Amino acid sequence: MIINHQYVEELLEQSQNASKEEINEILEKAKTFQGLSHLEVAKLLYIQNEEQINEMYKIAGEIKRAIYGNRIVVFAPLYVSDFCVNNCTYCGYQKKNPFPRRKLTMEEIQQEVKILEKMGHKRIALEAGEDPVNCSIDYILDAIDAIYQTENEKGNIRRINVNIAATTVENYKRLKEKNIGTYILFQETYHKPTYEKVHPKSLKSSYEYHITAFDRAMEGGIDDVGGGVLFGLADYRFEVLSLMLHNQYLEEKFGVGFHTISVPRLKKAEGMNLTQFPHIIDDETFKKIVAIIRIAVPYTGIILSTRETSNIREEVINYGVSQVSAGSCTGVGGYKEHDSGRDVNQFEIGDHRTPVEVLKELLKDGFIPSYCTACYRQGRTGDRFMRLAKSGQIQNVCGPNALMTLMEFIEDYGDEELYQQAQRVIYKEAEKIEREDIKKLLLENLEKIKEGDRD
Ligand code: SAM
Repeated sequence: MIINHQYVEELLEQSQNASKEEINEILEKAKTFQGLSHLEVAKLLYIQNEEQINEMYKIAGEIKRAIYGNRIVVFAPLYVSDFCVNNCTYCGYQKKNPFPRRKLTMEEIQQEVKILEKMGHKRIALEAGEDPVNCSIDYILDAIDAIYQTENEKGNIRRINVNIAATTVENYKRLKEKNIGTYILFQETYHKPTYEKVHPKSLKSSYEYHITAFDRAMEGGIDDVGGGVLFGLADYRFEVLSLMLHNQYLEEKFGVGFHTISVPRLKKAEGMNLTQFPHIIDDETFKKIVAIIRIAVPYTGIILSTRETSNIREEVINYGVSQVSAGSCTGVGGYKEHDSGRDVNQFEIGDHRTPVEVLKELLKDGFIPSYCTACYRQGRTGDRFMRLAKSGQIQNVCGPNALMTLMEFIEDYGDEELYQQAQRVIYKEAEKIEREDIKKLLLENLEKIKEGDRD
């Protein structure tokens, strides 16, 4: 059993009255970057004291800076089909919603990719509703080929993370053969009775089948998997603890846990009302969740989407988020529709800024936006990635790569203001690199990029 409900509930029960001293001890341990035990995570989930909460944010920020430096990876979602046979009560794509469904043709996918490329994107998350007939695995595989093969003006999509419904080992093998990046699947909720309630009679109804999807993905050879919970469906403490249990289960069974964890919060969507859901979390709780995940699993990336407003995004980037989406449309054909003034979304988004605007803000706040995809292209995935990350060696690679991809971005897509702002940051960061050989190589590569060389 991946999640023993009784065990999770007992841990939470035991943790409700953790003393101030106990919380302090956990925070001390957090500073050593070793991660936390389940009981310690459970206790932190009840943190109340304001001073300790602020201390927790500070530590989460320190962990983030030590492991990820000031880099933030930027990506965009690409919705290819909204056909769906499920009736997830929270989702705009649920079958009972009467809107004309569509899936993009390969030409339309390439049009979307061209728009994404003009925004400077190099990484995308491929998204689709679940419908084995109208959106078969063959269609998804063809879509991946179409995306990688799109002939753009300046750059190409270099990494496709895939967020499609739980499937078979055979299908995961086929996805792996297409060189996908991370396979992402949100558990939605780990709480079985809630899972069954919000996924009435449909393909997605089986809690067992959904929760074992990563086992099948790993068996199919996909070693980078990304988990997540849709916060708002069930008690957040239960969910965070279960995420940790699931991560540990994967580590023990396959030698590597989640590559990333996503933290989507429930948003208003067609056919649902937020008032239907009694576990909606407020901003303060959301911030705590991000910080606790950062402390509990220091080496796992945390992904934040444009479901959140720019204010919240800017704050939680400080506490642990390592990847953000930017300029997103969450509807099929959304980028083209958006360009022509229409919006068709799976759910409402909170951050409507363009990537250039997001980048300016990140730079202003001292972060380096990164479009790097080198790890995956060099085969640094799964436990190989984790070993390098934990030894700290990855820093020598990621820092310079982030600066080079930022230089590529401003050369190809930046406006004058961003160009000036980013140039200053790039050379200031380059100066900070201690190893002379790495610094020299970086400066040479930056010159080459200015002369037109691209990765
Ligand atoms: N069909 C795939 C599946 O079943 O996993 C992909 C899912 S969908 C394209 C991506 C994610 O959007 C879902 O896993 C869900 O967590 C999220 N989502 C659905 N409705 C949402 C809402 N109202 N607010 C925020 N996120 C939502």
